[in-house]
Amino acid sequence: MNTCGFIDAAVEESLGAIGEALAENGRVVVTGCLGAKQDLIRKAHSSVLAITGPHDTAAVMQAVHAHLPKPHDPYVDLVPGTGVKLTPKHYAYLKISEGCNHRCTFCIIPSMRGDLVSRPIGEVMQEAENLVKGGVKELLVISQDTSAYGVDVKYRTGFWQGRPLRTRMLELCRALGELGVWVRLHYVYPYPHVDEVIPLMAEGRLLPYLDMPFQHASARILRLMKRPASAEKVLERVRRWREACPGLTLRSTFIVGFPGETEAEFSELLAFLEEAQLDRVGCFAYSPVEGAAANALPGAVPEELKEERRARFMQAQERISKEKLKGKVGKILRVLVDEPGTGRSSADAPEIDGVVRFKGGTAGAFVNVLVDRADEHDLYGRLR
Ligand code: SF4
Repeated sequence: MNTCGFIDAAVEESLGAIGEALAENGRVVVTGCLGAKQDLIRKAHSSVLAITGPHDTAAVMQAVHAHLPKPHDPYVDLVPGTGVKLTPKHYAYLKISEGCNHRCTFCIIPSMRGDLVSRPIGEVMQEAENLVKGGVKELLVISQDTSAYGVDVKYRTGFWQGRPLRTRMLELCRALGELGVWVRLHYVYPYPHVDEVIPLMAEGRLLPYLDMPFQHASARILRLMKRPASAEKVLERVRRWREACPGLTLRSTFIVGFPGETEAEFSELLAFLEEAQLDRVGCFAYSPVEGAAANALPGAVPEELKEERRARFMQAQERISKEKLKGKVGKILRVLVDEPGTGRSSADAPEIDGVVRFKGGTAGAFVNVLVDRADEHDLYGRLR
């Protein structure tokens, strides 16, 4: 029963309403302004179950749960504070938004999931905090477009731990960086404001890792794909990011054999690969998805040619990757152990990148590994 105690008439009315409620079901918790006058209430109605002051939701809920225990719900009651997680105990994906405002012609995600809808920043931070309390050591920030976080809500201010926070990638990254765990960013686009998070990586508050799906390098193909950002600007940006954060790992994905892709455009892509010297790269041969606008484009590339280009692309990248990993031999890396003998450094996202192999270690622990050897994808070393 919410009450008012502001004027005498309100006190009378509130006491009368408490009496009615008691007569009705006999179990009443009183809250609101009149709750500050406990004696007055007790004198009139000694059988109320509990009395709280105004704005004390927690005390009201405590009284409700004490006198009306929740019925057992087998679906919810088994869920731990960290929610249901399909990943190992030590890492978790943190989804910050759903949907996408882009309309890439090869993709049907916007037609299935709609435009971008950002989760409130307070809710995202609360989930992150709960995960960390539950033992998570690495948070992987995911969405369809992480750099667009908050665009849909005009970067509205939310609250976390009573503190105002804008719904924006930079503010989110700063707040996540305070949790004291590894934070890895996925699906980031090379928008100018991404420059702002690089210093957080250089300072060690975020993992120096960016997963940035470029998809192609030819300006014409990117236009046909309706992708944001051009290749030259990307290269320039990558160069500046590496200057600001030399340990930065860049991961990307590409599509070869997009409708109309000429040999010259594919060569442009290979040249971009050489120039960009990306650390981790995935490559897909274009495959039409039902409902995608790209299906209507002329110049379908024959299957064998797509596969041939994919193989050439991967061969080039393997060479680059091998060289880059060779540069890590002799270094000591901080590694998060996934299972005894296998772990990941800041450069390795689970499932999609390489691993670091060594003898020993306990799942979920951080260890230091001295790298002895490298191949195209993985590193091998020993605990230090
Ligand atoms: S590929 Fe990514 S950015 Fe493009 S429409 Fe699909 S989800 Fe959006």
